[in-house]
Amino acid sequence: MVSCLNKNYYVCTGCALLCDDIEVEVSGDQITTIKTACRKGFSRIRGCIEPMPCIVNGKNVDINTAIKDAAKILKNADKPLIFGLGNSTSEAQKQAIKLAKRIDAFIDDTSSFCQGPTLEAILHGKIRTCTLDDVRNRADVIVYWGADPSNSHPRHLSRYSYFPRGEERQRGWEEDRTAIVIDVRKSHTAKICGDKFFQIPLHTDAFFIDALIDALSGKVPNMLFDYDIKNLLKLANILKKAQFGIIFEGFGIYNIEYMETMARLMGKLNEVSNFHLIPMVEHYNMRGFNQNLFEETGFLNRVKFKKCEKGFDVKYGVDYSIMEVLNTKKIDAALIIGSDPMSYLPRSAAEYLLEIPLVSVGPCENFTSRVAKVTIPSALSGVECGGSAVRMDGVKVRFEPIIKRARLSDEEILKRIIEAI
Ligand code: SF4
Repeated sequence: MVSCLNKNYYVCTGCALLCDDIEVEVSGDQITTIKTACRKGFSRIRGCIEPMPCIVNGKNVDINTAIKDAAKILKNADKPLIFGLGNSTSEAQKQAIKLAKRIDAFIDDTSSFCQGPTLEAILHGKIRTCTLDDVRNRADVIVYWGADPSNSHPRHLSRYSYFPRGEERQRGWEEDRTAIVIDVRKSHTAKICGDKFFQIPLHTDAFFIDALIDALSGKVPNMLFDYDIKNLLKLANILKKAQFGIIFEGFGIYNIEYMETMARLMGKLNEVSNFHLIPMVEHYNMRGFNQNLFEETGFLNRVKFKKCEKGFDVKYGVDYSIMEVLNTKKIDAALIIGSDPMSYLPRSAAEYLLEIPLVSVGPCENFTSRVAKVTIPSALSGVECGGSAVRMDGVKVRFEPIIKRARLSDEEILKRIIEAI
């Protein structure tokens, strides 16, 4: 057995925490032992149950044929879509953007229907943020809003936010930190926070924020739903006293209207105390995609490229989101990379993918790869290929492969598709 325990730590790509302390043992091209990773990271590193072949029109083919057919579909399309990339390296994402420019494609990712507005506000400097290392070292009031990191990012509390001792928090969670959950249900994280769980009815986050802003401003809160005002005042008092506060914003709350309300809350909190916000990005490199596209175009998702005399023109807007282009049948081919929209988009939108030529690139079989005209298996990034990614707090992380297998990485597949086009 070959051991990797010469204190070579690996990075886990199971979620956007990108834990960099993973120890493994390998034998040949098999990983035999995984240490340190949580249950989610363990299953990511263990990989797919069955290796997937290259498939064109339901038949197994070699990689060259699959790439040639994928290139043909994309080249012949007038309005192709490139979607996914949250589970790809930054290097692969840059190739996808290059391809989108080459073929006048729409390009989008899951942030267009989840945390895009928050990341946009952060990238434009409208919301104060910080790193997870700042949180570990300095945070005394931690708010998980619409988030359950015990399940979504299982090592979040132990590595960064609640349990660790930090430079300015030597007495740890017992005395130095207060953890709060605001959510519609009593999650596992809420149970850890005990009486600091503030339960609110479904879809009332924006009203709750308005009432909280009133309380922080010394006004009697105007509650638009049945809620114990004393409880709200108790929360406002904790937030006011924070020396270094952090809100971890989860999927439980999102949309543009809400974002404006949250920006007002952040403004008020920073008048009376000191607060930061980090979105609880789930896919390990969704933030990387947003930042890479932002650097290239000034927009972080929902982009359409069009070649023109000066190079290429960029259009941006809700009309170019995956939901809209599928609902209005605006596209005539799609390349899905490391994602499974057939399983999570509403059926009304997803079923249009059955009507157009679909290319699926990804490490494991899923609903989308099963219905694709061309399926190209790729190396599992962080396990079978290296690269770089952006952690949920914006910190860039480089990682090496744990094992080498024959499969091409997303980056190599995209490069070869571009060459073939
Ligand atoms: S918390 Fe996330 S990055 Fe860390 S080991 Fe678990 S899945 Fe991997």
